[in-house]
Amino acid sequence: MVAEKAAASSTENEQMDVLHSTRVVVKNALDKLGYPDEVYQLLKEPIRMLSVRIPVRMDDGSIKIFTGYRAQHNDAVGPTKGGVRFHPDVTEKEVKALSIWMSLKAGIVDLPYGGGKGGIICDPREMSFRELEGLSRGYVRAISQIVGPTKDIPAPDVFTNSQIMAWMMDEYSRIDEYNSPGFITGKPIVLGGSHGRESATAKGVTICINEAAKKKGIELKGARVIVQGFGNAGSFLSKFLHDAGAKVIAISDAYGAIHDPNGLDIDYLLDRRDSFGTVTNLFDTTISNKDMLELDCDILVPAAVENQITAENAPNIKAKIVVEAANGPTTMEGTKILTDRGILLVPDVMASAGGVTVSYFEWVQNNQGYYWSEAEIDEKLHEIMIKSFNTIYKTAQTRRIDMRLAAYMVGVRKMAEAARFRGWV
Ligand code: NAD
Repeated sequence: MVAEKAAASSTENEQMDVLHSTRVVVKNALDKLGYPDEVYQLLKEPIRMLSVRIPVRMDDGSIKIFTGYRAQHNDAVGPTKGGVRFHPDVTEKEVKALSIWMSLKAGIVDLPYGGGKGGIICDPREMSFRELEGLSRGYVRAISQIVGPTKDIPAPDVFTNSQIMAWMMDEYSRIDEYNSPGFITGKPIVLGGSHGRESATAKGVTICINEAAKKKGIELKGARVIVQGFGNAGSFLSKFLHDAGAKVIAISDAYGAIHDPNGLDIDYLLDRRDSFGTVTNLFDTTISNKDMLELDCDILVPAAVENQITAENAPNIKAKIVVEAANGPTTMEGTKILTDRGILLVPDVMASAGGVTVSYFEWVQNNQGYYWSEAEIDEKLHEIMIKSFNTIYKTAQTRRIDMRLAAYMVGVRKMAEAARFRGWV
């Protein structure tokens, strides 16, 4: 991996730098909207970035110190909001980029939030339940001064779940000395979680796939779909697509991929996957993630990690539609190649905005102490996602730009306007 990275040219390194590529598109979007450079200077970095050290007593009695981050991109529109990622590859740059993407998502689906994001460098797959609880609580103590229901509201992301949100909410409630369900979203239902939150990202992606398929004249029933990642986003998505009559012909996790041109048994896979979204270890015959992305299919959904579609493999992608459930799965060059080849690319900041939308519903329900049914949540989510998708699609068509730039234009506008009205720029 290190050798591979060293061999990459500087341009490729820049391509793989998610913060750099995010800034380039933000700048392009602001230029197209006619904003002066000072707006870009404000928005190219989070307004607040906290780096913390978290001591945790491990099961063997030793103390291990973990590094964590919390980025608050911009709070001109309202409190910042965004998930917390537990992953060995977390970096400061990645957390910054993720916080900018959250601001854009909030703008796209018109929520009263700015973007935030957190991450801890750790491998939860190698930690016990007790150690994870210690780490989750330690992180909240370390960031408690800058977060809160009206300041910055965390949520789940890669390798974090409703149990981790419950520990974090409990720790914050102890610090704050009152029950604070609105501090965090993605909680278990009994602690003020919202119906439909767990599957919200996947539902939003499914709505985008439906809309994109209509634009491309593809019938979802019978369409061949590949989903990379079988965690929260990828597994629910596979189930929704399978139930809608699509043929999910390949899925993957961090260790490899499985492929069946006749369609996989999604219910079986859902039943057997572990809590980290691992399932391919149950099969003798697997293929690599790299090979899976290039298989023949109609729709490809990256739902795992960043930088999966690059200049190297974009020319070989066979899908007619790529819908980004993951954050940052396609590099700038990858985006250009797919767009030039006439492949419809629905960008992450649009496709995965269903998660933050239902997180917003959860926060509203917590604040008012009155809870909605799953049917009400679904209806509201549906309306928001369809409206946002079509606004962005139309912007892309009329301006003759790709959907990523169109999404950034729609997403950045509210934040830029709010900062202007506040007199910041
Ligand atoms: P998760 O932890 O539940 O699942 C991650 C999946 O990706 C697992 O199947 C894992 O095995 C796989 N994976 C990990 N590393 C991989 C690698 N190097 N190559 C291939 N597969 C790998 O995470 P999630 O919540 O499903 O999130 C997946 C993506 O969706 C992330 O980019 C996340 O930021 C984005 N997202 C999630 C939500 C949400 O609500 N869960 C919302 C918006 C965006």
